[in-house]
Amino acid sequence: MSSITANSTMRADRLKAVRPSMILGLVQKARQLKADGHPVIDLGIGEPDFETPQHVKDAAIKAIGNNETRYTIVPGTPAVRRAIIEKLERENRLIYRQDEISVSGGAKQVIYNAMASTLSPGDEVIIPAPYWSSYPDIVAIAEGRPVVVDCPQSQGFLISPEQLEKAITPLTKWLILNSPSNPTGGVYGSDHLEALADVLRCHPHVHILSDDIYEHLMFDGRCFTSLLNVAPDLKDRTLIVNGVSKAFAMTGWRIGYGAGPEDIVAAMNVVQGQSCTHACSISQAAAAAALSGPVDFFVERAARFQDRRDGVVAALNAIDGIDCLTPEGAFYVYPDCSGLIGMRTAAGRVLTSDTDICAWLLDEHHVSAVPGAAFGLSPHLRISTAACTDDLETACGRIAAACAELENVQ
Ligand code: PMP
Repeated sequence: MSSITANSTMRADRLKAVRPSMILGLVQKARQLKADGHPVIDLGIGEPDFETPQHVKDAAIKAIGNNETRYTIVPGTPAVRRAIIEKLERENRLIYRQDEISVSGGAKQVIYNAMASTLSPGDEVIIPAPYWSSYPDIVAIAEGRPVVVDCPQSQGFLISPEQLEKAITPLTKWLILNSPSNPTGGVYGSDHLEALADVLRCHPHVHILSDDIYEHLMFDGRCFTSLLNVAPDLKDRTLIVNGVSKAFAMTGWRIGYGAGPEDIVAAMNVVQGQSCTHACSISQAAAAAALSGPVDFFVERAARFQDRRDGVVAALNAIDGIDCLTPEGAFYVYPDCSGLIGMRTAAGRVLTSDTDICAWLLDEHHVSAVPGAAFGLSPHLRISTAACTDDLETACGRIAAACAELENVQ
């Protein structure tokens, strides 16, 4: 129970387990350095570097003209939910009804609503690490217990069926899967998903949150496979999470959606109805246009990101002390930087962690990356490839030059 005494703050006890977003903190620092005139290249943020398609912007302007400016119903307008249902059937071969869809202010809020509406204190959520940094903190805000399972580079950053089996307890409520992954670009293939499904079938109390937000960024000719494509029998305990931020460059519009069992979606709508009420009406109209409009640019864009990935992985692997796996999707690389730990910089600073390395790269070499510490697996760097090729080349050049100046003091 919280108690407010002369010495305590107004913060609720449950916030004690919650870390403020390290990524947003770094982005702010990089922007400040830029504003102060430093030539910073920001590879910290996970944001597509192209604009929202014109027909989507037009749909939003039309919605304003049509006075679609009032409250909508909590789960989202029938029009946007229809567009989501059609998208899920067309692209993912998954069939849902309107009452199985909830639209929120971004995929992040969908995940928040899911955790806040289903977790009781002490309920466990299995989160393979490296993870998208918000998962454990959202679970903690909802008073659940994140059960982090280390999935190192040697296993492609993916949870094995054996690790999953070992992590499940009677208190497990959810497993969170994210493929392609932020921060590693790791992808679960059909065989791997089938092996995980075999474990999950033995534990019917475990639900699965499948975060598919990077589904359209798959490389080397791979096709995205959802857990439900290989294990349709798990549909009554799977929540698909997706959104328009990454696929349509709509991060600022704040639209995400969940598709899952009616009782879970109804519970999520209770949280939403008593917090933000619904996602922005104009953004819902824009998302409906995005999801039912042309998507031919997906293929060309994935090819562009694949080229950038190839350039960055090759440049990083040429640096002594850095070892980078080739991601199979998404727009991040997650190199192991253990070879830089213990080295001394030209300014005499000894690098003791990936957080140190990122601070040194930003302060002295004006390249912003996010330390593995933010994603639960160190020492690594997360570098976003959602920047133009020139910037990526310059940034890799700066990292190489910086590392060449390091001195081994061990
Ligand atoms: N899931 C993952 C894996 C992400 O990387 C992000 C954004 N970085 C989100 C969910 C949230 O996306 P949004 O709230 O913008 O829809």
